[in-house]
Amino acid sequence: MNTLETFYTAENREARDRRVMKVIKVHKSACAIIQNRLDSFLSNELLPHRRAMLLKHLLQCQLCSRELQLRQRAMKRVRDAVQSQAVPPELERRVRERIRADAKTIRRVT
Ligand SMILES: [Zn+2]
Repeated sequence: MNTLETFYTAENREARDRRVMKVIKVHKSACAIIQNRLDSFLSNELLPHRRAMLLKHLLQCQLCSRELQLRQRAMKRVRDAVQSQAVPPELERRVRERIRADAKTIRRVT
């Protein structure tokens, strides 16, 4: 390989690396947006167009699909742990009182 070929090969390699980095950056930012919305998705709080966008991404992206599975499992573990605890009657009474008081305030305001 002569010096010129070496130069072009190195240049091509750099250009290829830049392209790969750009693709990875674009992919990462799309995934970051999706992953920021996964908890809202699981809580059914996303607007329909965002939900559709997220589902479309999940069909194409194993990384985010895997993240969704992990969060679903974690959420289920927390829910199971909370539900297995008995609520002290006094705490339940106070929470219900507070909800009723807040509901009256909201009704007065609206
Ligand atoms: Zn993704």
